[in-house]
Formats: sequence, C-alpha cells, structure tokens
Amino acid sequence: MEKRDFKYLIDTFFTCNKEDVLQIFNEFLNALEAEETLTTIEPMSRNYETAQSNPEINVIPGNLKDARDAIFPFFWGTDGWNSKFHLENVKGPANYASLIGAIACLLKNPNLCVDTYSQRSNELELKAITTLANIVFYHTENPWGIFTMGGTISNLYGGKIGIEKVLPGAMKKGVTGLRLVGIVSHAAHYSNETLAGWLGMGTDNLVSIPTDDACSMDLDLLEAELDRLYKENALVAFVIATFGSTDASGIDDIAGIRKIIDRKAAQYGVSAPQLHVDAAVGWPLSFLNEYDAEKNAFKLSRDVLSAVVELRKQTMNIRYADSVTIDFHKMGWGHYPSSAFIVSDRADIKLLFRTMEQVPYFSEADYRHDPALFTLECSRPAIGPYSVMASLNGIGLQGYQMLVAHALEMALYLKRQIEKLDYCKVLNMKCLGPSVVWWVLPKGRNAKQIYEDFVNGRVKPEDYKRYFYEVQRLFEKRKAAMDPKKDARLSFTTCMGYLPGGVAIPAWKAVFFNPKTDAEVARQIIQSMEEL
Ligand SMILES: *Cc1c(COP(=O)(O)O)cnc(C)c1O
Repeated sequence: MEKRDFKYLIDTFFTCNKEDVLQIFNEFLNALEAEETLTTIEPMSRNYETAQSNPEINVIPGNLKDARDAIFPFFWGTDGWNSKFHLENVKGPANYASLIGAIACLLKNPNLCVDTYSQRSNELELKAITTLANIVFYHTENPWGIFTMGGTISNLYGGKIGIEKVLPGAMKKGVTGLRLVGIVSHAAHYSNETLAGWLGMGTDNLVSIPTDDACSMDLDLLEAELDRLYKENALVAFVIATFGSTDASGIDDIAGIRKIIDRKAAQYGVSAPQLHVDAAVGWPLSFLNEYDAEKNAFKLSRDVLSAVVELRKQTMNIRYADSVTIDFHKMGWGHYPSSAFIVSDRADIKLLFRTMEQVPYFSEADYRHDPALFTLECSRPAIGPYSVMASLNGIGLQGYQMLVAHALEMALYLKRQIEKLDYCKVLNMKCLGPSVVWWVLPKGRNAKQIYEDFVNGRVKPEDYKRYFYEVQRLFEKRKAAMDPKKDARLSFTTCMGYLPGGVAIPAWKAVFFNPKTDAEVARQIIQSMEEL
C-alpha cells in the first residue's frame, strides 16, 4: 500500500477539515433557503425505475464533495415539511433548536448502549427521560425509561413488560401454549398489531374495544371483555390506551381504565395487565397542564380556553398509567428518531433485565448507566436526548405552550368554519386535539342529518356506501383542482376511529402540526370546498 494514498484517506475522511465541512454545510443551508422561496411544495419526481438497477460506488477515493454529490439530488428531492400548507398527517417540521442538538450528537456519535461508549450522553438521556416523565406524569417519584427508534418500539416495550407481569419468566421460557391477550381500542394505532405479532402473542389475540363518538374506548365494553377473557382463562398482558388517536385525536379515559383493570384483576385473582399509554401524538397537551386559565396570558378565546381546561382533566390522568410512549419527533418538533418509552415506577424495568440469575450484580446504578442490560436494541442513537434537551430549553415551557395552544386554536377554528356548511359535518367535534376529520358531501345534501341518521342505524348500507363514495370523490376532485400556492394538502382516512355499528367511516383529514399554518390557510380550505 502506498503510504501517501493511505495518508490521503486519513486526512480527507478521518480528520475534521473544518472549512470543507462548513462550506458544504453552508451549501445545504443555501439549498434549504432556496427551497423555502419556492411557491409550490411539489417535490421532485422519483426515479425508482433505475434506483435498483443502478447501484453506485466510486472506485477511486474522492473527497467530501463526492460525498455531497452522491446524496444531493435526493436531499433536494426531499420535502422538509416546512410549508404551512402541509396538513396531511402527524408530521411536522423539525425545529432548529433540535437541529443544534442533533448536530452536536452527530459530531460525537455516541452509542447509548453503555456508559463507556457515550459517557455524558447517557447522563443526558437520564435527564431527558426524567424531564419528559415529569411533564407527562405531572409529578413522579421514580420514573425510568429510554429512547427508542419510534412509537412502535416504545409501545412494544410496554407490551413486553405486561407479558412479563402476567407470565413471569416468559423472556426465558417463551409464551408457547398459553393464550396471551392485549387490549386496545378501535381508534388505536396499527403499531399495536405489529407488537402483538412480534411479541409472539399473535395479532388475533389483540382485542379491539369499540369507542364512543369521541374516539374514546367504551369502558362498559372493556369491562365485559375482561370478564369474557378471564372466564376463558386468557392471560391479559396489557391494555394500551390511546392518548391522541392518529386521525381524530381521540383520548381514552386512563383513570377509568385503571379502576376497571385493577378491580377485575382482583376479582379473578390475577396480576393486573400493564396499563400502557400510547401518547405518541397526544403527549404535548401536557405542556398546558399548568397554563393559568384565569390569567389566560395568551388571550385564548373562550372556545380554546375551555378546550384547554377540558384537556387538562384528561392529561392529568396519564399519572394512572404504568408506562407511556412519547414521540418527540411528532409534536415535540424534534428530529427522528426521538421516541421515548417511560415507566412510572422504575421497578418495572427490572422485568426486562437480561439473565438476572447469571448477573445478580445488576444494581440500580448499573442499569441506569448501561441500558443495554435491558433494552431491545444494542446500539442506540442519542439523537433523542439531544433533540429533546436542546428543544425544551431553547423553546421553553411557555414556548411549547404557545405552539400547542396555536395548534388547538387552528383546529377549533377550522371545525367551526366547516360546521357552518350544510353539506359538511365535522366527525370529531368532541375530540379537542390538533386534528379535524370531516365529511364533505355534494351541495344540497344535509350532512348533519345524514350523519345523525347513519350513527343511529337508520341509513341502509347501499345508501351510506354512496355517501362515503361521494366524500371520497369530492376529496379527489379538490386534489385534482388544487393550487399548491394557496391550497393546503389534506389527507383522506378510510376509518377515522369511531365505527358506529361496526362500520368504518371515511373522512377528510387535516392535522395542525405546522406552527406556520394560520387562519388564512384554514379559510382557503373552506373556500376550496365551496368551489367544488
Ligand atoms: C405515529 C404513531 C405511532 C407510531 O410511532 P412511530 O414513531 O411512527 O413508530 C404509534 N401510535 C400513535 C398513536 C401514533 O400516532
């Protein structure tokens, strides 16, 4: 090997050439800036046709610009969701305080696996987890948790702890021959099916409880289902309550679920299932727990203020959960992956410890420094803790309160405007979160009456199928006629979470995740419906 060639490699790729790095970083920022001046958000067309047939690797060692060139078209062809017209789903733009955190993290590239790989970054994880725990559990003595790859994995941890609670030693002995069951609501996220499958209990053993018209689990039906399951000798490992359903922002009554599962477990003499809360989207509502409604510093309208007061009752109930999923990469406006799994009582984490018998010296101090002793993952990125701590302390509690209140304001505003139209019907009026799901029917139809009749089972299937078709057809029509310079991007759901009489309801959907989205955007949505 030529010494000179090898030195070139080291100098180019393993030595920080600050000027080169800054120059390229500056170019990326310039590209980002240029993108922001574009009036449309139509992303570049993809070239999947040859992406697979044209693999690519340079032969001769290049430099950082080759690295840049290899990815630049794909960077340019990716939408950062910074536009205020993005209302499709629970994805927002990442904030720049999070960028500062994330860049710091990437520069050191810590591995949260164990303390020796990451030192103070593990300490930062502890701090970030405890901070988030205090926000969602309100005040908590003994929380613990870790950052994961996403809400799905955070929910999976909750499910796994539940299995270990009702079937001690399952980690070692497996779950064969036993009927393990988990419970969610109709409005729950599909990730719960993922975890039921992956944890070996089987998706058939994930029971879905119908919701009321606020997309909140029907507690009478939960109770009846628990009776049925316990009588069949099923092991009920967990109930995963939804705090903010993905489409309609429905919220389950966590305090109510707690009472029922504890009472039923005592009645049948079994261990209570894990009460895990999937607050992937809904957790930031907790920022408003301490908003002073009397002072009303943000001068929120009476409407919004009463939503804040009402939501507080629900967010305060997270205290009754055993564990919770928080996606900071959703309404924390952080970078991916920044999902946290947090238990209210640290002792629950012990159930996940690897081979306790073999390593009895696992003390509390050890696992707090070395999460690899219990985590699903081995290597773990530290983007989460860096994104969380940079964002929370850049934006601040009041900053987050403003951001969340703004999202609530916008959702409520759009709901009020939609409700004024005879041919429209808001389907999640009782859900107070940042999303709106609604029907748009042809002008001349009385949408409210049709909905009322439908919910009460007075509409024949052939008729409601026609209405559903109309709702979808009008959505497609608006999409085709959309002016990307002024029309918001909405999405369409085939099942908004509430299934009256077991029938899935389709709807138009708007989620207010982008802080730049203003009342003008909402008014234009109304205008575009009027013009259909
Ligand atoms: C997004 C979401 C998930 C999945 O989270 P990821 O971070 O995308 O894996 C789970 N539950 C709910 C309610 C969600 O909205």
